Amino acid sequence: MIVRLDPLLGPGKEEAGARAIVLLGPPGAGKSEQGRRLAMRHGIPVISTGDLLRDHVRRGTNLGVQADTFMKAGKLVPDSLMNPILEERLSQPDCAHGFILDGYPRTLAQAESLDMVLKKKGLRQYVILLDVPSERLLKLLTGRRVCPLCNRSYNIYFQPPKKEGQCDADGARLIQRSDDKEEVIRRRLETYEKETQPAINYYVEHGRLIRIDGAQTPEKVAAEIELKLGPQ
Ligand code: AMP
Repeated sequence: MIVRLDPLLGPGKEEAGARAIVLLGPPGAGKSEQGRRLAMRHGIPVISTGDLLRDHVRRGTNLGVQADTFMKAGKLVPDSLMNPILEERLSQPDCAHGFILDGYPRTLAQAESLDMVLKKKGLRQYVILLDVPSERLLKLLTGRRVCPLCNRSYNIYFQPPKKEGQCDADGARLIQRSDDKEEVIRRRLETYEKETQPAINYYVEHGRLIRIDGAQTPEKVAAEIELKLGPQ
């Protein structure tokens, strides 16, 4: 991984030509897998709003306690909780060279708010939609298992670990996230249709949506994303 540290860069001093890569797609479409690949290739951090929130929940912060109720119900966390958490993370020095967003925006209001934040930071924005047919999504989601140590994700149907129930990288016991249970999944897919589709329409209307077939292998999806991103 390329790690670039420049002491002159910091909040409000983003590198010229730095880009924000926004990954959109329904839950289970492979955003975190592609985020990890992009981060490795481009040497920029991947910011997953789901991970940021789960971290607050784990640490039992005030915001985390409030967010937890919404997450457990498969609902979106209100912007009054979500936006301050995200903005604080984006103000960290490692984001000055650009970053990848996984799981944000999820509403039209968030898409508009992000446009303003990125404009202020002077970052070029690339919005990528991982498109996956809905029948496939349920299997993708109910089969998902994640490593609690390194966050790598697997799928018992499509991408199983080498040894059942164990992470290939560190051997940790894989877990099923509490919001990956079938009832919650159905709610999350409904939320996506209702709340996130308007954000996608917004990018389509402005001619800014890069649509990728997310049902291909992760390698093919990654190659197509690179092609669409073009050289830095
Ligand atoms: P994820 O890991 O991206 O699937 O997110 C897990 C849960 O965190 C979601 O079901 C929401 O409850 C919450 N969440 C993540 N990102 C956002 C966001 N941008 N806005 C509101 N809630 C979010």
